[in-house]
Amino acid sequence: MRVLLVEDEPTLREQISTSLKEAGFVIDQADNGLDALHLGTHEAFDAIILDLGLPVMDGMTVLKNWRTDGLKTPVLILTARDSWHEKVSGIDAGADDYLSKPFHMQELLARLRALIRRASGNASSTLTCGTVMLDTTSGRVTVGSKSISLTSHELKVLSFLMHHQDQVISRTTLTEHIYAQDFDRDSNTIDVFIARLRKKIPENMIETVRGLGYRLHCAT
Ligand code: CA
Repeated sequence: MRVLLVEDEPTLREQISTSLKEAGFVIDQADNGLDALHLGTHEAFDAIILDLGLPVMDGMTVLKNWRTDGLKTPVLILTARDSWHEKVSGIDAGADDYLSKPFHMQELLARLRALIRRASGNASSTLTCGTVMLDTTSGRVTVGSKSISLTSHELKVLSFLMHHQDQVISRTTLTEHIYAQDFDRDSNTIDVFIARLRKKIPENMIETVRGLGYRLHCAT
């Protein structure tokens, strides 16, 4: 899952970025509103963390612009301590959740996972597809009663497919959601990850849809 992190305070940005990466997220970063506006508009993200107090263009203006343009990506805003009016106007401007500074990193992670799940129509923190279960909190995957071991990229691909069950997902989309913008992207590697995943989960579960991409079969 790929997240855009917008925060102008370098230390905090670094802390959030490190925690998110450790939790398996792919991160792109912006330290001002204008860059954030551009990235959010032109790149594919599963969620956005947006500080409101930003140089060049404030976070509220960025958020309003995104929503006016029809961007549906879930946005979690970071507000100043005890600033209830920021939370109210942020939610009115189209934010999906908020967190007041200072906050616990674990709470940010939990809220982010919940936003991403809800955006894909999943309420529970455990995603199930046939005998395959993904605990989105721990990143643990089980097939039946057996725990399976995945590389971080395999997990990113499986997680995206589990969040978008029974939908045809193109290789381009998968590539966009498992690599950050500055990464040397190669959509051929997706085929490699899929081939490896097929050896670890029931073989017919991932269907190749010719010319279109892949579909994780979960509906019975
Ligand atoms: Ca700030």
